[in-house]
Amino acid sequence: MEKQPTIWSALGQHLEIARTLRGLEIRFNPERCTGVWECYAVCPVGCWTPDYKNRVAIFHDGELCIACGACVLQCPENAIELKPA
Ligand code: SF4
Ligand code: SF4
Repeated sequence: MEKQPTIWSALGQHLEIARTLRGLEIRFNPERCTGVWECYAVCPVGCWTPDYKNRVAIFHDGELCIACGACVLQCPENAIELKPA
């Protein structure tokens, strides 16, 4: 019988994909950020946190980033780029 994936094996797979894709990394310019939280809303792996007080996004977990590009496409201020590491 095939072994069912666990949350830990799924996380391990995710990190493996992330490592493969990490030829690209996020470059974030907080000076352009106007705090609309699109990045926070679209990131599938939770790399962004809203700093509501200062109305600026915080990119806090580059280890999890799979370079999907969703935040880059959604940011209305062009505050986020994906560039070769
Ligand atoms: S590129 Fe994708 S995974 Fe990486 S921070 Fe942006 S939305 Fe999240
Ligand atoms: S989508 Fe762009 S402007 Fe909006 S919070 Fe994220 S980085 Fe800032």
